[in-house]
Amino acid sequence: MSMSQPPQPPQLNASDPLPPVPGAGNSAQNASDGQTAPGPQAGRAARAVPILLNLCLVLFAAHCYRAGYTGLAAASLLWGCAILSRSAWMQPVSVLVLLGLSAEWFVTCGQILQIRLLMDEPWLRLVIILCAVAGLNQLAALLVLRAGPGWFNKRYALRHRQLAAFGLALLLLLPVLVRAPHLLLFERLVPGTGALQVLLAALWAALVCGWLSDRKRAHARRLLVWRLFSVVFFGQFLLSAAGYTLFSLTGSLHIPVPGVIVGGALYRGEPGFMLLLFLATVVLAGPAWCSHLCYLGSWDAAAADSQKAHRHRLQHLRERHPLALHPLFFRLIMLGLTVLCALLLKALGAPLPLVLGLGVALGLLLLPAALLLSRRYGQAGYCTLVCPLGLLACLAGRLSPWRLAIDRKACTQCGTCTRVCRYAALTGQTVRQGAPGLSCVLCRDCLQACPHQAIALTLAGRQGKTGARTKAVDGAFVSLVSALHAVFLFLAMV
Ligand code: SF4
Ligand code: SF4
Ligand code: SF4
Repeated sequence: MSMSQPPQPPQLNASDPLPPVPGAGNSAQNASDGQTAPGPQAGRAARAVPILLNLCLVLFAAHCYRAGYTGLAAASLLWGCAILSRSAWMQPVSVLVLLGLSAEWFVTCGQILQIRLLMDEPWLRLVIILCAVAGLNQLAALLVLRAGPGWFNKRYALRHRQLAAFGLALLLLLPVLVRAPHLLLFERLVPGTGALQVLLAALWAALVCGWLSDRKRAHARRLLVWRLFSVVFFGQFLLSAAGYTLFSLTGSLHIPVPGVIVGGALYRGEPGFMLLLFLATVVLAGPAWCSHLCYLGSWDAAAADSQKAHRHRLQHLRERHPLALHPLFFRLIMLGLTVLCALLLKALGAPLPLVLGLGVALGLLLLPAALLLSRRYGQAGYCTLVCPLGLLACLAGRLSPWRLAIDRKACTQCGTCTRVCRYAALTGQTVRQGAPGLSCVLCRDCLQACPHQAIALTLAGRQGKTGARTKAVDGAFVSLVSALHAVFLFLAMV
């Protein structure tokens, strides 16, 4: 393999969510750990699942549409389409949905009965019909519960993590839908359709979670979905800047330059929305902000992913200038300069537009140069040399429970991971020490590339002693970042 080319991850089964922990199990154990699909038993009962489920959903959609809940009606139809993917995680959700719909039909029945009795109108036929529909939903729930595994049998091994990603995204977005629906773009475009946006976001979270769990494609898919978020983010930013405030989350523009987010907070004397959002995310998901969620870092990562990068030259340069090219050195200087400039401008009473203009100009000046460096040397230049926010992510990320650990017994010092890492977190020395450097952003690229599965994510400092525990930790992390990504993408906060 040429040194200038990124090493290819080992050929693995695409549905394998995580490597087994060395010494903690074998393939026979893995085959019997309940992660295998029950098989395509699409018998007659299983084939009836989508028909009955969709019948219930269409009836509910019609009911919602008639009552003026367009978003709920559309969400109901969307779920009917989504279950055609047959993903295993959808089975328990479908059961809950059907039970919820049944309860809703009974509530509606009770309300209509009361109205009819008050108005002294005939009610018996209507009550029989509504109770029959509620019963149909219960029957469908029973069918999905019993015969569901025959229909929902795709991506069975990923069902827990995809379900968690879906649930987390819902958990984060439902309060927005209930308390502040105007923050949802769909709601601003067509009032009443916020529920559809929330369901789309949660479905996207589950889909991305499946992609990031696929060892063969996780790296490429991560870069893809990360860039998609960036495009949507900057698209909305440009539309807002052009005067279409409909595309702005809060109605006011936030300058999306990392240095301005830090310096602006110091200048104003209050953290501001973006910095608070950043800190909350970093406490939850650690420095994964810088590998999955930052609107700017995706371009730096894409540039560093260049096939033509001269990584060996960077290696030589780093050996010759270990301090200057340390991933913390320049960023510490940049952070110091940002703090100093912000406090100086504040003391001089410089007007806010001038301060913002200076920050944006500096950011725009440094970005192209850093991207060129990234492309040339295969290391995220802007993120590891320039960005003060990235340094804060790595420092504040120590508050989060997620870490990466290297099993020194399983590691053969082959060096594959050091060539894969775009954030200078892995060197011969850090690998020998069993943990990446502070600049690690939890991108999981090394974990997927290690041919000996010697690298694993840990939670609260505890490394998985079994393959199942390691998978669970990885699954929890992937579910979390997928849900956060989906929330960011569908709120695309500007
Ligand atoms: S280092 Fe800065 S630009 Fe890079 S991903 Fe992190 S916050 Fe974004
Ligand atoms: S952890 Fe060890 S075995 Fe795995 S890629 Fe890195 S150097 Fe090679
Ligand atoms: S050490 Fe691994 S997870 Fe951390 S930044 Fe490098 S490649 Fe990504």
